[in-house]
Amino acid sequence: MSNTVELDKKYVLPTYARADVEFVSGDNAKLYDTDGKRYIDFASGIAVCSVGHANKRVNDAIYSQIQKITHTSNLYYIAPQAKAAQKIVEASGYDMKCFFGNSGAEANEGAIKIARKFGEKDGELKRYKVITLQHSFHGRTITTVKATGQEKMHHYFGPYPDGFVYADDINHVESLLDDHTCAVMIELVQGEGGVQPLDKEAVVNLAKVLKEKNILLIIDEVQTGVYRTGKFLASNYYDIEPDIVTLAKGLGGGVPIGVVMTRLKEIFSAGDHGSTFGGNFLSTTAACEVMDILSEMNADGTLSDGISYFESELEKFYNAHRGVFTSKVGIGMMCGLRVKDGDTLTKVIQRAREEGVIVLKAGRDTLRLLPALTITKEEIDEGFKALNRALNSL
Ligand SMILES: *Cc1c(COP(=O)(O)O)cnc(C)c1O
Repeated sequence: MSNTVELDKKYVLPTYARADVEFVSGDNAKLYDTDGKRYIDFASGIAVCSVGHANKRVNDAIYSQIQKITHTSNLYYIAPQAKAAQKIVEASGYDMKCFFGNSGAEANEGAIKIARKFGEKDGELKRYKVITLQHSFHGRTITTVKATGQEKMHHYFGPYPDGFVYADDINHVESLLDDHTCAVMIELVQGEGGVQPLDKEAVVNLAKVLKEKNILLIIDEVQTGVYRTGKFLASNYYDIEPDIVTLAKGLGGGVPIGVVMTRLKEIFSAGDHGSTFGGNFLSTTAACEVMDILSEMNADGTLSDGISYFESELEKFYNAHRGVFTSKVGIGMMCGLRVKDGDTLTKVIQRAREEGVIVLKAGRDTLRLLPALTITKEEIDEGFKALNRALNSL
């Protein structure tokens, strides 16, 4: 056992079923372990390393910033925070303002606080109910784990905050709306739930109903956001105007950051919400650089070229292994292949790693692929070659 494994087993709480591998360096979509073995990374740290590992532009930007200052607290103005907010709002196409936290769960907590304050202020009834979907995932804090529509995650940690109701699917949301509902929170492509995109017409219809009833629509774009689906936000595909959007994973290129943005620009007053670390110089400098890199790639077509190439190679791979995979799901660089059963999926992931490609699981039966948005054609080719070897050796 390496020293890391020994230390981890002795001192780190065992909340993760870790794979037996320790990566020590990376270069765009390539990873290297302690033996110097090379892997193609089709997981990018669960959609976090949006611009690849060891991105030189992000690293240079961070290094130059931290030589000057890393943190002051939010009691003072922070230039890269203000700039990151501008870049995010402009890229979204929505007329919104941002609040910065440190993670997806925290962004969603902020969204729920906005919704609850909206419910408190608006109308006579106190509106507090937030409707989410079965198989959703919204985070691991007490509130966001309760917002998550997966009963298996609600063991042990109660009592929970009241007011979370789960709809079986998007078409079932409307029937649950009542006088106490302040918001509906959804992922447009359920990430952890199995890379399942929601039906566009159903989302558009729901958005219309919510607007009529003055109920907020919160879109959790923690995984789908920051060009993961090919557009800055998955919401941009759905022709809807959300009231609140949350972002996190891909935004900092590996540096922890979360954002809740809303069109309700006046909802919070000083003191209503806050974060010690949120939006500091380190994380927002990283976010600014990630936003610049990806918006350049979006403008010059390299992003859509990369996505098309990945999609076509994935299609070939899927067709070559129709005995194992039952369907192909997802949008852009957020892809999934349904596997005939969970045991086979576990084997595929392990064999893939042995052959030198890192892939993920989602839900019970979905092989999930979330490569860096900067992945090259050579890396894509190498990754699928390794995946083919893994499947052929099952
Ligand atoms: C990962 C994820 C979260 C939680 O983000 P953390 O940074 O782990 O708190 C919330 N919502 C969605 C959709 C996610 O994919």
